[in-house]
Amino acid sequence: MIRIRFVAAAVPAAAADARILARGGAALEAPDLGCALAASGDGFIGVAGVEADATLTPDDAETLGRRIGAAVARPGVARVVTEFALGPDAAVALAEGLILRAVPLPGLRGKPDAEADACPDEALIATRDAELAERAWAKREPVIAAALWARGLVHLPANRLDPAALEAEAESLAALGVSVTSIVGGALAAAGLNLIHAVGQAAATPPRLVILEWPGADANAAPLVLVGKGITFDTGGISLKPPANMEEMKGDMGGAAAVLGALRVAASWASPVRVIGLLAVAENAIGANATRPGDVVRACDGSTVEIVDTDAEGRLVLADALAYAAESFSPALSVDLATLTGAVVRSLGHARAGLFSTSDAAASRIERAAAASREAVWRLPLMREGDDALDSEVADVKNCGWGTAPDAIHAASFLSRFAGGGAWAHLDIAGTADSPALTDRERRGPRGWGVRLLADLISDLETDPWTSSPA
Ligand SMILES: [Zn+2]
Repeated sequence: MIRIRFVAAAVPAAAADARILARGGAALEAPDLGCALAASGDGFIGVAGVEADATLTPDDAETLGRRIGAAVARPGVARVVTEFALGPDAAVALAEGLILRAVPLPGLRGKPDAEADACPDEALIATRDAELAERAWAKREPVIAAALWARGLVHLPANRLDPAALEAEAESLAALGVSVTSIVGGALAAAGLNLIHAVGQAAATPPRLVILEWPGADANAAPLVLVGKGITFDTGGISLKPPANMEEMKGDMGGAAAVLGALRVAASWASPVRVIGLLAVAENAIGANATRPGDVVRACDGSTVEIVDTDAEGRLVLADALAYAAESFSPALSVDLATLTGAVVRSLGHARAGLFSTSDAAASRIERAAAASREAVWRLPLMREGDDALDSEVADVKNCGWGTAPDAIHAASFLSRFAGGGAWAHLDIAGTADSPALTDRERRGPRGWGVRLLADLISDLETDPWTSSPA
């Protein structure tokens, strides 16, 4: 993490420009943002060219922060100074972008790599109101710290983060006052969570449902329930994936990581909102006792599922977790996040998550949080057309209906059957969970996507509690 300090702007932009360039630094143009970054060789970076009273939107300020982050993440740069006075909101957004782009992913190399691990220690960000910016940052800093934590978890390979290790990460939140319990292995079947068990039964480390609770101001209030897909590695099971890029399947627990991040934020804020997190954790492995295509398994709600494709396992573990949540917690609002389908990546790329909801009120809450957090979503329909493709000849439903409708919609439709009667939204984050390329905006790899959105959802519920009747 980079130490952030907000300071009242003292140096006029033009003077800064001259001073830094006079010291022989290289300029980095950002004409679309109306400014230039100027770097000198002695570990100091200034930003010049934005008028002292410029109003940069938070979107542009985050982009500028990310570009600064890309420019300063190199050996020898210890301190970053921006020398134009942004409004406090833009200054905070700039700090966010700077940290998210500059801080490296946790290194797994045996030998240190000065280039890859370079990161400044401190940033001084000029603003018109340093006191307001400091206050806003006090609330925002834990969110960014949680996003970095989530990102690091997604980055870990499956031999470093198996279901037990993911549970141990969840348990680290107990120190913040989050209660953490788990239902593991054979106990899943006893609790009726047979789908989670079926997905993880061939793995050396048993599957589990991890239940986290932040009590908020009223431990009996109808909670916000957050459900995350936590597949620590997805081989596809007997419906084996092709080998190309299969290593990326270490990141199939990005939804669970986002939920962990959100719980950490709620606790760090001592939020009055009661938040329950459910992590549906399993490794989808191959073995003599792996679930086979055609197996019929009883879900937590008593219905039966014909598993025609063992690679459509995310919707199976989520179905059990959603049904368990509906029965155990009577959620005010439940939201699940999952790296669920390739179809959503083909539809929306890596820029927006697919949003599905049975409730317009819930969808608009998510859209509001997405706008506030700058983690974008796009609502897609829960179509009933083509839904009969999920009809099974032998069970109540099957988990996949190839080719009849986009799979992201089938998956959402499948989940909707298990979400109970309350307001529910589903975020398919298969595209947004990671950045596919190294750019000025982003490093390649996991983003910790969803932590900021969920934090803004919790923040929104703090000021505007959920009162809508279930849709
Ligand atoms: Zn899969």
